[in-house]
Amino acid sequence: MKRVLITGGAGFLGSHLCDRFIKEGYHVIAMDNLITGSLRNIEHLFKLPQFEFYNHDVSNYVHVEGHIDYILHFASPASPIDYLKIPIQTLKVGSLGTHNLLGLAKAKKARMLIASTSEVYGDPHVHPQNEDYWGNVNPIGPRGVYDEAKRFQEAMTMAYHTYHGLETRIIRIFNTYGPRMRLDDGRALPAFIGQAIRGEDLTVFGDGSQTRSFCYVDDLIEGIYRLLLSDYSYPVNIGNPDEITIKEFAEEIIKLTGTTQKISYKPLPKDDPKQRRPDITRAKEILGWEPKISRAEGLKITYDFFKNTVKK
Ligand code: NAD
Ligand code: UDP
Repeated sequence: MKRVLITGGAGFLGSHLCDRFIKEGYHVIAMDNLITGSLRNIEHLFKLPQFEFYNHDVSNYVHVEGHIDYILHFASPASPIDYLKIPIQTLKVGSLGTHNLLGLAKAKKARMLIASTSEVYGDPHVHPQNEDYWGNVNPIGPRGVYDEAKRFQEAMTMAYHTYHGLETRIIRIFNTYGPRMRLDDGRALPAFIGQAIRGEDLTVFGDGSQTRSFCYVDDLIEGIYRLLLSDYSYPVNIGNPDEITIKEFAEEIIKLTGTTQKISYKPLPKDDPKQRRPDITRAKEILGWEPKISRAEGLKITYDFFKNTVKK
């Protein structure tokens, strides 16, 4: 049986990855220190003999018994309010954590995939963003702790590939949403849906003209799975190119939820990227991947999930 280690396995994306690899017949080891994740996301897997959970901070030395075929490093705070609250831990898990896991991958002769991000492009001057763009990041701004940790993570991963011949994969993930996001994680979608359900106005930052491109989680997981099993070691963008302004996005949530609340405008956070849309030419060519789930479909599934979890 192939064995896969998924760090951040109790988080939003990590828990969906655990489900996918269990479904594909793998033995899954989830590792997480629960700093932003929750055991609720994986509690349905605890009864399975092919699932193990380690409560561990991967910024400290990582030890796993037995062989490992694949390591997927997803541990990291991912929402701006999370990484602003725990900036040092964010820098550590992207740097020290990545180094520990690369060391483990080398010792186990495992293939390692890292969860990088569209944030490596910063507030981009190239639109849409393709993988050859180097980005526009403020290293000492509030988002720098996340962006630079991820850029270091990519550099370290390429170095292990080049100098140690380690098999590595780098995915640059664009804004992804779906069930198991935390309602209080401050990201636009859970913030808006939570506000609509609680009967509060939807807080749009700035004038709402900044854009994002939202990908439904199942599409992303398929892209990760294909990239891991491919033989391509350079970065690949995975995201949905359907771009929308944040104001229009809030209006879609108002319509979807039927709320009578309005939009209330708040100051734009510092260094908030003005536009973001993935160029997915590479993913299409190399992985034969493109998103299948429209925003209308994905938002409906996500709203149904949140309706059952929000306390009015
Ligand atoms: P999340 O906060 O739901 O999950 C992250 C998980 O990592 C949590 O369970 C947390 O407890 C765990 N974790 C954090 N630091 C740890 C440490 N030092 N040791 C062990 N576990 C630790 O976030 P998510 O949205 O699922 O993001 C997962 C990964 O995907 C992150 O690496 C993030 O940077 C990346 N990513 C996500 C998105 C997105 O839109 N969701 C976009 C780009 C990149
Ligand atoms: N945003 C907003 N209101 C909120 C939360 C976020 O207008 O309550 C904006 C935020 O400023 C950004 C966009 O929505 O321009 C997406 O924010 P998110 O935190 O989801 O992701 P990221 O900025 O990391 O892409």
